[in-house]
Amino acid sequence: MAATANARNVIGEATLGELEATLRGQLVRPTDPDYDQARAVWNAAHDRHPALIIRCAGTADVMRAVEFARSEGLEVAVRGGAHSIAGFSTSDGGVVIDTSPMQGIRVDPTSRRAVAQPGLTWSAFDHETQAFGLAVTGGLVSSTGIAGFTLGGGLGWLLRKCGLTCDNLLSADVVTADGQLVTASEQEHPDLFWALRGGGGNFGVVTSLEYRLHPVGPLVFAGAVFYTGASAVQVLRGWRDLTATMPDELTTLANILVAPPVPFLPEAAHGQLVVAILGVYAGSVEDGAKTTQPLRTLAEPLADLMGPMPYTAMQGLLDPLWTTGAQNYFTAALLDRLDDDAIDTLLAQHAAGEAPVRELHLHHGGGAMSRVPAGATAFAHRNAAYVLNIIARSPDREGFEQHAGWARATHQAMDPWSTGGGYVNFTSEPGQDKVQASYPPDTYARLVAAKDRYDPTNLFRLNQNVRPSGGH
Ligand SMILES: Cc1cc2nc3c(=O)[nH]c(=O)nc-3n(C[C@H](O)[C@H](O)[C@H](O)COP(=O)(O)OP(=O)(O)OC[C@H]3O[C@@H](n4cnc5c(N)ncnc54)[C@H](O)[C@@H]3O)c2cc1C
Repeated sequence: MAATANARNVIGEATLGELEATLRGQLVRPTDPDYDQARAVWNAAHDRHPALIIRCAGTADVMRAVEFARSEGLEVAVRGGAHSIAGFSTSDGGVVIDTSPMQGIRVDPTSRRAVAQPGLTWSAFDHETQAFGLAVTGGLVSSTGIAGFTLGGGLGWLLRKCGLTCDNLLSADVVTADGQLVTASEQEHPDLFWALRGGGGNFGVVTSLEYRLHPVGPLVFAGAVFYTGASAVQVLRGWRDLTATMPDELTTLANILVAPPVPFLPEAAHGQLVVAILGVYAGSVEDGAKTTQPLRTLAEPLADLMGPMPYTAMQGLLDPLWTTGAQNYFTAALLDRLDDDAIDTLLAQHAAGEAPVRELHLHHGGGAMSRVPAGATAFAHRNAAYVLNIIARSPDREGFEQHAGWARATHQAMDPWSTGGGYVNFTSEPGQDKVQASYPPDTYARLVAAKDRYDPTNLFRLNQNVRPSGGH
């Protein structure tokens, strides 16, 4: 309730009332019954108390919210799907500009384009585009929001066939720090358009995103194959070897994990080390069945869940394992190779961890993602052979710091194989070193130039922050 006093004292009820009267959406105060629900974010490690939550109904509300936050000198957190690992979409004592009520989408099947509002999750987005057999690279967990995901880059099951999500962004409407709406595209504000594709939420509040769509499914050959811990080395080496010749249609991920207590795995495996190979073949089901066959015979499988399925089913397959309310720590490394020593190191690190959920995701890169020139977008680290996402998750606070320490140690242990680059969307901790690692120096310099132009006072600083050169 400290935040209540703060909001009342600092802002004043009359000012809040005036703000409220100018909104089409909802103003949520700390005294409101739905405040706790409205302030909650996916990662419960960030239990913060904003002074205000402005649940925007449209662009006009976003413009008003930006203007209000700036004039009152409030810290600004921008929210889409609330899945920021680092907790950037909430604040203690600041204002949350919540775009989650903005869920409109228009799909044009003829031009294969979609114009979507930032409050959509991938689940809703895919539902609409799949009605026409179309899709764009989306999140591995379908409750993730499209906005934060796209602005940071966007790795998903279509990345080798269609590129990163941000590679398929055609234009965006953005409310910049001065409260004005601009459209960014190759033709208009190209410096902003470039920066939005990988530079995260540094440049304003996006109110509309236009995407290029691709024919996908609705039925694809996809799923997961689980192998025992005893065959982990063989499976990971086999998968690594197969990635050298995989076609672009096939995007896969190897996951080293503690088996969850799911009914499709034998009870004896629950709580034990297992390796899962997951993937989607974005082509015909027949070709997918043939191409994925070697992935399903890397050893004797514990469970083989690969087969023809709706693309939307694959998009939702992992959702039950990644529900809101737990404490989560993610950190990512970009790997230029995965030799036998790297595999041994990953397995040793996994064994050394104690988090009840600890997963080492190896996303196979290359394909369409790697063919976009490094300077074309702010997401520039395109040559990584694998993106390693190190995940520690526990139901409550107990032991969480230790688990986060394990994730950091694992990251460090992989230094010999790392390109030194990072990925803003998979980074739990803010910090200049993390931000700089996410971009090559010339990319970072261009981001600073865009920041200077569109947010010179760093109003939008709750993100992997690109600081303007003025020192804010
Ligand atoms: C369970 C889970 C699975 C994930 N899977 C993947 C994956 O497969 N691939 C991948 O690449 N990433 C993945 N991520 C990471 C994800 O891409 C980022 O956390 C992303 O920021 C989430 O976007 P959001 O809109 O849901 O988050 P929010 O918390 O709402 O926003 C995160 C940040 O994005 C910016 N932002 C959000 N909305 C706007 C807006 N309208 N305008 C301007 N800036 C905005 C802000 O800086 C904000 O702080 C996953 C995360 C989780 C928690």
